[in-house]
Amino acid sequence: AEELLRNSDKLSIVGQLAASVAHEIRNPLTALKGFIQLFQSKGIVDCDKYYGIMLDELNRIEQIITELLILAKPQSKTVDNKDINELIEYVVALLDRQALIHNVHIVCDLEENLSLVQCVENELKQVFINLVKNAIEAMPDGGIIHIDCLQKGTDIEVTIQDQGCGIPPESLEKLGAPFYSTKEKGTGLGLMTSFKIIQEHQGKIDIESLPGKGTTVRITLPAS
Ligand code: ADP
Ligand code: MG
Repeated sequence: AEELLRNSDKLSIVGQLAASVAHEIRNPLTALKGFIQLFQSKGIVDCDKYYGIMLDELNRIEQIITELLILAKPQSKTVDNKDINELIEYVVALLDRQALIHNVHIVCDLEENLSLVQCVENELKQVFINLVKNAIEAMPDGGIIHIDCLQKGTDIEVTIQDQGCGIPPESLEKLGAPFYSTKEKGTGLGLMTSFKIIQEHQGKIDIESLPGKGTTVRITLPAS
C-alpha cells in the first residue's frame, strides 16, 4: 500500500510538472502564432520590429526545453572522485566575464587539500553555474560574490554568498518549485534542477536570505 501511495504521489508530481511545462511553453507559442497570423492577414511588410519579440519568445521556449532536458537527462552518468575546488574554479572562470560586465566581483576562499567528492562532475558544475548566475542576477548594481569551500568533518561545505536583493521570507518556501521565478526572463527551473542534483548526491542545500542585504546558499556534500 505504501508503494502504491508513493507511485500515485509521483504520478501527481509528474502531472503537475507536465501541466506547468505545457503552460509555460504555450504562452510564447500563442504569441508567436499571433504574430504569424498578423503578418499573414494584414500583409504587413515591415515585420522587422516584431522579429526581436519573436526571437525572445523562441529563446524562452528553447531555454525551458534545455533546462528540462538537463533534468530528464537519461544519458549515462560518469561518477568520479573530484576535488570540488576544481569545479568551482571552472565555473568561476566561465562566469567571471559575465559577472564583471555587471560590475560583480567573485571572490573565492577555497581551503586546500579537501577530501574528494564522489560526483557526476557536469551535474555539480551545473548546480554551481545556476547558483552563481542567480547571485549575479540578484545584484543589478554590482557587488561581491563570496564563494567559500571548506571541509567540515566528513562533509565538504560550499557557500555562495551575495549582497543582492535577497528573498522575502514568504517566498523562501516557493524556491525550487517548477517555474517559480520573479525575473522577467527567468525560467524558474535553475533551483529545482539544483535541488534535485544535490539530493541525488546525498547532499543538502540551505538558503538563508535577508531582503535588501543578500542571500547565502550553503551546499553540503559528503566526502568520499
Ligand atoms: P530563475 O533564475 O530563472 O528565476 P531559479 O530557479 O534559478 O529561476 O530561481 C528562482 C527564484 O528564486 C528567482 O526568480 C529569484 O526570485 C529567487 N532567487 C534565487 N536565487 C536568488 C538570489 N541569490 N538572490 C535573490 N533571489 C534569488
Ligand atoms: Mg536562475
